[in-house]
Amino acid sequence: MEGGPWGAIAGAGVATWVWFIWDFWRGSRVLRWLRQGDPQTAPSLRGMWGEAADRARRLIRQADHQIRASDARLHDILSALQASPNGVVLLDEEGHIEWCNQMAEAHFGFDVGRDLMQTVGNLVRDPDFTRYYNAQNFSRPVALQGRSSTTARPVRISVQLHPYGDGRKLLLSQDITALEQAEAMRRDFVANVSHEIRTPLTVLTGFVETLQTLPLTDDERQRYLGMMSQQAARMQSVVLDLLTLSRLEGSPLPGMSDWVPVEALLKRSEEEARGLSATLTVNQQKHHEIIFPPVETMRAAGQIAGIVAELQSALSNLVNNAVRYTPAGGRITVCWDMLDNGNARFVVTDTGVGIAPEHIPRLTERFYRVDRSRSRETGGTGLGLAIVKHAVQRHGATLQISSVVGKGSTFAVEFPAMRLRGAQPQVLKSQIALQAPHNASAHEPAAL
Ligand code: ADP
Repeated sequence: MEGGPWGAIAGAGVATWVWFIWDFWRGSRVLRWLRQGDPQTAPSLRGMWGEAADRARRLIRQADHQIRASDARLHDILSALQASPNGVVLLDEEGHIEWCNQMAEAHFGFDVGRDLMQTVGNLVRDPDFTRYYNAQNFSRPVALQGRSSTTARPVRISVQLHPYGDGRKLLLSQDITALEQAEAMRRDFVANVSHEIRTPLTVLTGFVETLQTLPLTDDERQRYLGMMSQQAARMQSVVLDLLTLSRLEGSPLPGMSDWVPVEALLKRSEEEARGLSATLTVNQQKHHEIIFPPVETMRAAGQIAGIVAELQSALSNLVNNAVRYTPAGGRITVCWDMLDNGNARFVVTDTGVGIAPEHIPRLTERFYRVDRSRSRETGGTGLGLAIVKHAVQRHGATLQISSVVGKGSTFAVEFPAMRLRGAQPQVLKSQIALQAPHNASAHEPAAL
């Protein structure tokens, strides 16, 4: 045999080397690919290396999927936090800002581009926050001034820290400006109501004691009873106005199915105004001159959709105020105008005491009065214009006030065309042409 056993051994040796080199080459391809880690470029091999590459490729794909899924989840969570109406700030163990949403940027004045990884204590310098942060007692929130707060537009935020994980903290902030304002208004309102009721009640109690303890003549007794009845009437007016207000706030908006004749509203206002004027000027030489449109004009005003009690209350309050704040001898003019856009305007003009401009924006606040004693003397509760504002707003109408101190005031309510029907504009217009311009001397009207 050629070569003999040595030849066979040499051949086997060479074959082993060839196999070793080939296997080494396959192994190094797999290693090279693993170093890159791209599952797309995995070498396609047979045998053990092929299987190893295949398994590694599947593992890498799986890991890739998991990373992408957790990225998507994280993105979703951050988007949800971004959409939150509250400010959200994530702090690490040292109090560095890791992430915050836009609301937190607005509340604290943070800038994500600039302030990430800054210490929150260095950025929120409010002493109340520093105290809160240092005390490390986060069981309650702390109220701070918002970064955008100004004297004209104060902003208050409530801030609370919530520890989580390994020493990390979640900082939540909420705008509580409206809440605090509502709370302050509620407190003022309760204080005002108590005051309005307590004052006549105290007077009444005093009279009762007097009647019980002092021997009085019949005349004196009658006089005291008269004054007691006045105080009781005052309390009753406050309670009735409060009930009206609460009904206005609590009942559904007026629909479009009930139509009220404007004529009826105007006639009733006229009767009330004349009655009130007669009472107020009973012992005086001069009376009020009260001018309402003639009946045919009232009729030409058509109908208005809404709740009769609310509409009547709004119109009567304005006319009665004109009588109450106009000294005897003054003039009160009431008209109902049709405007070119189809709206209608109810206007009351008086030649009374007038109102200084700084009071006008506040007149519709509950219990706001310019002249307390005149309001009280004429049976006012301080709630009339608050009722008017609510009632007209509920009917889609607006209230405008213009006035000059010492000369008089004009109160106008503009009703939208959609709530009106059956008016005869030509009759109304010809009447207006006969009247003097009611707003000639007043400032620009303020819409309330
Ligand atoms: P009051 O019951 O005190 O009249 P209102 O809410 O009706 O309360 O009015 C608020 C305040 O507005 C009044 O106290 C008064 O000072 C002022 N006011 C209202 N109407 C007139 C008017 N026609 N002329 C002058 N001042 C008015």
